[in-house]
Amino acid sequence: MMMNQGRIVKVSGPLVVAENMRNCNMLDVVHVSEMNLIGEILEIHEDKASIQVYEETSGLGPGEPVVTTNAPLSVELGPGLIENIFDGIQRPLEAMRAATGDNITRGIKLQALSREKEWDFVPTVMPGDQVQAGDIIGTVQENEVFEHRIMVPYDIEGTIESIEKGRFTIDTPVAKVKTKNGNTVELTMLQKWPVRKERPYKEKLSPNEPLITGQRIIDTLFPIASGGVAAIPGPFGSGKTVVQHQLAKWAEADLVVYIGCGERGNEMTDVLMEFPELKDPKTGHPLMKRTVLIANTSDMPVAAREASIYTGITIAEYFRDMGYTVALMADSTSRWAEALREMSGRLEEMPGEEGYPAYLASRLSQFYERAGKVKTLSSGDRIGAISAIGAVSPPGGDLSEPVTQATLRIVKVFWGLDYNLSYRRHFPAINWLQSYSLYLDKLDEWYRENVSRDWNKYRSDMMRILQEEAELQEIVQLVGIDSLSATDRVTLEAARSIREDYLQQNAFNEEDTYTTLDKQFRMLKIILAFYEKSQEAAKKGVDINSLFSMPVREKISRMKYIPQTEEGKPFDEIEEELSKQIESLIGG
Ligand code: ADP
Repeated sequence: MMMNQGRIVKVSGPLVVAENMRNCNMLDVVHVSEMNLIGEILEIHEDKASIQVYEETSGLGPGEPVVTTNAPLSVELGPGLIENIFDGIQRPLEAMRAATGDNITRGIKLQALSREKEWDFVPTVMPGDQVQAGDIIGTVQENEVFEHRIMVPYDIEGTIESIEKGRFTIDTPVAKVKTKNGNTVELTMLQKWPVRKERPYKEKLSPNEPLITGQRIIDTLFPIASGGVAAIPGPFGSGKTVVQHQLAKWAEADLVVYIGCGERGNEMTDVLMEFPELKDPKTGHPLMKRTVLIANTSDMPVAAREASIYTGITIAEYFRDMGYTVALMADSTSRWAEALREMSGRLEEMPGEEGYPAYLASRLSQFYERAGKVKTLSSGDRIGAISAIGAVSPPGGDLSEPVTQATLRIVKVFWGLDYNLSYRRHFPAINWLQSYSLYLDKLDEWYRENVSRDWNKYRSDMMRILQEEAELQEIVQLVGIDSLSATDRVTLEAARSIREDYLQQNAFNEEDTYTTLDKQFRMLKIILAFYEKSQEAAKKGVDINSLFSMPVREKISRMKYIPQTEEGKPFDEIEEELSKQIESLIGG
């Protein structure tokens, strides 16, 4: 067939211009040259199409053929996603390596999901049942920890005619549905979805529950809602990787989708080496058993990086639609934006700030808007959520640069990693004065009902003490510590306790690595009791040094290591000791 046969007229890095492309559509996937390189049409002017090519274009030249597939860039969705590592256009890296060795051979066509592997399909509906898009018709236990739910694809509604239990490959029909107009449609376990199109849902819900992470500074001071969006800048060496690993391991999410857009080759190799090593503390199995990795390796051109965040979020949406909560991490969106900038430059578009295209902000928000908590398409009331955490890597840590600024206008949580804190070995190095969460009001009710009525008061007390500390420190710098009143000195000491005994959390200590909300609350209560009672005592003239050196303070500094299982007792004892020791100081 010679239909739609285009010809290359120009090659500019990952951008190829072809003529005789009048019958193609924007965003169609095309095959470029005899090598069948994969590309996507970005622009059409008369009969010329500008194509971003997802593979190395060296050696391509004018005259070579370009053939459209008449379909947009899509991902395959079905059993086999979990534990897999894909590149930006969902080619399975392991399978490719097995087929071609370490360097990806150009033009290699491998299906994203294996057509050979068989899965045990267990129906959950029966012949005669009415089904519509999004309804679950069966399940596949994909591995020890993850149950894959097979859904009726979009646009299909009708009566189950037949459905079979058994071992099938993903492209084998497992059920037949008689639709309203009398046709019979065969359903397999495989679906496809165009990556640049948001998967539909019934209704977006306001996020009103936290995504509990067990990381004290996050859960207490700067919580992210389940279905929320957060950004984290990553100056080198500031502990970004550890924070991300902690979130992947501990966040209350059923699944993790990790999109790595590394620039230098070794950045990605690190992720590929490290992630599969992580153990899932909740199941004892490798974390990969509930993870999908998207990795742009260094031998892939920038265009694939541009596509990868859409590939990742589409996969996340598919799991959301099953009723799961998904934690999606994109690292780093700055590298993604650089890919956007490079393509824009080659398209000779009018550059905006620092050369980024004018649509940078709208593209970023299109991505983050696909996060959220939703009522899924289906006849029941299934709820799923995607929480999206994007790392930004501002050059030189300069937060005023365009990608960070555009991101901050969209996301509702910002965890400001601070190089100075990590230099002082304060981990996690999240700066409490710079960071914020705009979910506090929305989550207020949840914390009240599920942790304590006092949670929000304690939280703001703690934040206030930290802010006062910063102001007092300025005074100390100017006129010295002796100029401070006794109560100010108590504030400084309480702030130090908050920083060292509460905010600092060692990811590598078995007890400290994760803190339940209940334990967070008990710790918080004791530190604030120390603050308040010491303030009172100081006002009554008690020597502050004797307050600071009370024996109970050693116990306060070790509260973080109290096993979670011990419930309230050790904390009640510390509280009692604190009261007694202060009273005896006041009395004496
Ligand atoms: P980055 O990815 O920003 O370059 P890493 O996440 O690799 O930095 O952190 C650098 C080092 O800092 C780690 O190897 C570790 O020693 C220390 N570190 C970071 N976060 C923590 C933490 N929460 N607890 C203990 N040590 C940490």
